[in-house]
Amino acid sequence: MKLVFLGPPGAGKGTLAVRLADHFSLAHIATGDLLRLNVKEGTELGKKAKSFLGQGALVPDDLVIAMVKERLKKPDAKKGFILDGFPRTTAQAEALDHVLSKDGIPLSCVAYFDTSLKTITDRLSGRRTCPQCGMSFHIRNIPPKREGVCDRCGSALVQREDDKEATIHHRLDVYEHETAPLIQYYQKKNLLKKTSGDRPLQEQFEFLKNMCLESVA
Ligand code: AMP
Repeated sequence: MKLVFLGPPGAGKGTLAVRLADHFSLAHIATGDLLRLNVKEGTELGKKAKSFLGQGALVPDDLVIAMVKERLKKPDAKKGFILDGFPRTTAQAEALDHVLSKDGIPLSCVAYFDTSLKTITDRLSGRRTCPQCGMSFHIRNIPPKREGVCDRCGSALVQREDDKEATIHHRLDVYEHETAPLIQYYQKKNLLKKTSGDRPLQEQFEFLKNMCLESVA
């Protein structure tokens, strides 16, 4: 199963991708998490990407594409994956097509999370993230068992700099201009399946589980 989760920030892609990757034993490849890890570890890529992440701007295509190509070579990804936050531009989508065409196994489907502005702003402003393992929570909708502490690894949760109000609007603008055109891109390839990003977590999980199964039936 090779899946892409497409949608604006705050649509619930990451939260659902973690759960579905676990359910179907797929690699969860979240480019935002990979980039934040590089920044934290101070790698060459991290140094180049840092300012883009802080401003809510897209990291240049060549850097992100090279990073994803490397990640897709790992054995766990060969068995199947969920791409979360990639592709975000037409150039990235074309690069992904190119890589997959070499393997001869195309994408199973692209799940598009169609999400209202109200849901997006509520989710992003209430999101708390684990800087250690990348797990996301929400102060009301998905609270951790112990306030401020990650359920998975016990680290202290933080609010991402780019989840603060001033940056949210810019990220949504970037999404509209750079990423939303991919809806049509994948529609034309007959790969797009739409879901409402406004659904509650469990309902969305069941919906996507069936969508994924149908895409490989
Ligand atoms: P996310 O965790 O998916 O919300 O991504 C956080 C930030 O990482 C974005 O605002 C971008 O700065 C950067 N980023 C993540 N994925 C990509 C991508 N596919 N292309 C360019 N920049 C990305």
